[in-house]
Amino acid sequence: MKSIASELAYFLRGRARKNLKVLLLYCLFLLAMILVYATIFRSLMWHLEGREFSFIAGAYWTITVMTTLGFGDITFHTDPGYIFAAVVTVSGVVFLLIILPFGLISLFLAPWIEQRLRYRPTYELPAQTAGHILIFGVDPITRALIRKLQSRKLLFVVVSADYEQALHLEEQEGFKVVYGSSSDAQVLTGLRVAAARYVIANLSDPENTNLCLTIRSLCQTPIAAMINEPEHVDLLRLAGATQVIPLKKILGRYLGTRATTRGALAHVLDSFGSLQIAEIPIHGTPYVGKTLLEAQIRQQTGLAVIGLWERGEFTTPDRDSVLGERTLLVLAGTRDQLATLEQLTGEVTEDELIFILGHGRIGCAAASFLDRKPIPFILVDREESPACDQHVPVYGDATGRQILHKAGIDRASGLIVTTNDDSTNIFLTLTSRHLHPHIRIVARANSDENVNQLYAAGADFVVSNASVGASILMNLLEHKESAFLTEGIAVFRRQLPASLAGKTITESRLRPQTGCSIVAIEPPEDAETQVSPEPETRLEAASGLILIGTPEQEKAFDRLFGQER
Ligand code: AMP
Ligand code: ZN
Repeated sequence: MKSIASELAYFLRGRARKNLKVLLLYCLFLLAMILVYATIFRSLMWHLEGREFSFIAGAYWTITVMTTLGFGDITFHTDPGYIFAAVVTVSGVVFLLIILPFGLISLFLAPWIEQRLRYRPTYELPAQTAGHILIFGVDPITRALIRKLQSRKLLFVVVSADYEQALHLEEQEGFKVVYGSSSDAQVLTGLRVAAARYVIANLSDPENTNLCLTIRSLCQTPIAAMINEPEHVDLLRLAGATQVIPLKKILGRYLGTRATTRGALAHVLDSFGSLQIAEIPIHGTPYVGKTLLEAQIRQQTGLAVIGLWERGEFTTPDRDSVLGERTLLVLAGTRDQLATLEQLTGEVTEDELIFILGHGRIGCAAASFLDRKPIPFILVDREESPACDQHVPVYGDATGRQILHKAGIDRASGLIVTTNDDSTNIFLTLTSRHLHPHIRIVARANSDENVNQLYAAGADFVVSNASVGASILMNLLEHKESAFLTEGIAVFRRQLPASLAGKTITESRLRPQTGCSIVAIEPPEDAETQVSPEPETRLEAASGLILIGTPEQEKAFDRLFGQER
């Protein structure tokens, strides 16, 4: 059924759609011709032979003559009548029996057959295929993931049950595509799912459940399932998913943390054993305006400052980096060290009020996050949310200025812009920045292409659905051996190369040789992780290293020490 629908869909797209319009016009032309002939027929019959026929009889006569059926039940008996009948027959042959079929073949059938002959979808992978990543469901998130997989030269296969999509992905985008249904065990066997490295299930929640069950009836390959409804987490686990990712909830939390202007709220991004990577806004802390050296964060807490975010720019800091009002610190350290920092920066003096524009799943998750802190917020949406009965939003179109003004945006310290339309998000960011130069604006980008426009419109922070989703998936694929802080900077773990054992950090010449910096050392035998070690720290054999660097620096490390691990 599905394939018939997708075949029919072919005629509703692109050039075929245009041709369909031509066909429709031609049919209208034929209809008009029949009506005109029927009228002339009635008039000739009446004036030449004194016989009266209804209009329906006229149309019936025209059609039988034009199609050369000619039953002969109604005929002319005069010369002008014969001539008219001959003209109708000939035009029938030309317009109905020659031009119409010719048009149908050349405009529809031939291109369709040509396409079918040109593209033969792949139905299964070669028997020896192994270690591949199977991707079900292509959207901006999996596309961002695919870009990461391509840059790491990892083997992936996209599975699509839509012929047109399979054709497009394979021919236009050059992906390896298998055409088949995700719930068909035979298709999954043909995908060599048992030998695959990971399965990414990015379909609807019910389809993902079905896929997990089908895979589990065949093998134990790990599955990461993206879900829409956080309540479905248990269901998907039950169906056999190894990792269930409630992305919208995660995105909401991300937006929530970044919108708060309150310091002392570290947001843990990732962790490596006991080492956590967290972000904390500088605003509201005693560090505003100080350099990193003056702030003494490492000396007071033991935390390592591994990065600074400023309006979406990530920089690796040095002692003289100035901590601005809008800076977000990226820190590495243990839970206790983070708690110490929260105590030091703790005092909350100002009133906070966050506006959340868009009460969809992501906006709702951001609201729930703020609820738990608790930080007061006001939600605005033009529609009632069917999925939430906890929050009471202000109803109305957020792009109408009056509504935000009436809801009290002048009192807001932060603004989360999270509608499902990027143009609306850009518009809302731009107007809000214009009217409220000091408000902290965190915007959601539904598509990666709009990240820069949102920053240009004045957002302090942009959270892109696609890159967050892709980074989470990539972390899973790489077994959390690395955390992506931003495109181009990663924190990753490696074993200490044997040749460096016994040397100090300075002697190891790690930074001059590879560009990577050591964030922390995990000594052997469960001793405590050493965060931000001094240059004279001696590296013990069999330690783990947590490093920060660009992908090139990471590669340089592996090139230099690859064989030693
Ligand atoms: P979701 O993608 O699930 O986070 O949903 C996005 C939400 O944004 C939906 O609830 C929409 O009703 C809402 N939305 C979209 N455009 C506007 C707008 N101009 N004003 C207010 N809410 C909007
Ligand atoms: Zn809600």
